[in-house]
Amino acid sequence: METAHPTRCPAPPAAGQTRPAYRGRFAPSPTGPLHFGSLVAALGSYLDARAAGGEWQLRIEDIDQPRTVAGASDAILHTLDACGFEWDGEVLVQSRRLDLYHAALTRLQLAGDVYPCACSRREVATATSRRSIDGGLVYPGTCRNGVPAGRAAAAWRMRVPDGKAARMAFVDRVQGPQTQDLARDVGDFVLLRADGQFAYQLAVVVDDALQGITDVVRGADLLDSTPRQHWLQQRLGAPTPRYAHLPVVTNAQGEKLSKQTLAAAVDASKGSAVLARALSFLGHPVPAALQRAPHAEFWAWAIAQWSIARVPAVRGIFPGQCLPP
Ligand code: GLU
Repeated sequence: METAHPTRCPAPPAAGQTRPAYRGRFAPSPTGPLHFGSLVAALGSYLDARAAGGEWQLRIEDIDQPRTVAGASDAILHTLDACGFEWDGEVLVQSRRLDLYHAALTRLQLAGDVYPCACSRREVATATSRRSIDGGLVYPGTCRNGVPAGRAAAAWRMRVPDGKAARMAFVDRVQGPQTQDLARDVGDFVLLRADGQFAYQLAVVVDDALQGITDVVRGADLLDSTPRQHWLQQRLGAPTPRYAHLPVVTNAQGEKLSKQTLAAAVDASKGSAVLARALSFLGHPVPAALQRAPHAEFWAWAIAQWSIARVPAVRGIFPGQCLPP
C-alpha cells in the first residue's frame, strides 16, 4: 500500500542510536476512516508527546489483511493532516515489515518461548469453557508439549509463565496500578495465526521496540493487552515503554465506537471544533473562542494546557454523559 503523504520533518535517528527522552506514536488500523474515537487517541498521544517536547510518529497497523479496507490508510492520514497534526519521520506501514516480525518469531522459536499449535477454534471451545480477560477462551494447553500425532501445526503460540511469574504488574499513567495473571487471565496466546498472519501482539511489540517508542498513549480497550506486550518485551530483550490508556468513546450501550458500531468519519472541514470536542472528552474543556480559532491557535493552547492527570481514569465514556451534543 502506497501513501501519498510526504515526510514533513527530518527522520529521527534509527533504532540503536541515541534514544530520545520521549517518542510517542499513533498506530491506527486502517479498517475505515478516522472516527471520533480514534481522533481522541490521536489527540491524547500527540499532546502528551508535544507537551513533553517529544517526537510523535505514525504507524499504519495493516497486518490484519482481512480487516484492512482499501483507501482507509490514506483517508486517515489525510484527516490527521487536515486537522493540523504534524508527525515526525516516515509513516511506518506494518505490511511492509513482515521480515522483522519473522525475525522476532524465529528468535522466540530458538529460545523455546513459542510452540506450534494444531488446535482449531472449535477444538479449543470443546476442550475448555474458561473465559479469558478479553472475552475469548484461555488456551487449555493441548499442544504445549507437542502437536498430537498425525496433526499438522497451523499456528504458533507464546508460552506464558506459570505460578508467581505469571503475575504481571505495572502502573498505567491514567488508569493507575494494574495487575494481571497471564496464565489465569490470558493463557498461551497466538503470535502467528493459522491463516499465516502475524498477530497484533507480536507486531506492536516489535515496532514499538524498533521505533524506540518511550511512551504508548492509546485507548483503554488495549489495557488488558499490555501485560502480554510486557511479557513479549521481556522475552525479546526489548525495553518496556511507559503506558497511558485513555478512556475510549462508547455509544449509549457502552460499546466502543468502531466501524461496527457505525462511528461517523471525522469531518476535518469543521475546523478546531472537532478537536475541541476530543480534548473536552479527555478532561480539558475548551473555551468557546478557541473552538472557532484556526488550528495553529488551538494547538498552541492545547499543548500548553495538556496535563495527563486531568484525563478521567475510566475505561470508557459515552460522550452524551459529559459533553454538550
Ligand atoms: N492498531 C490499534 C487500533 O487501531 C492500536 C494499537 C496500539 O495503539 O497499540 O486500535
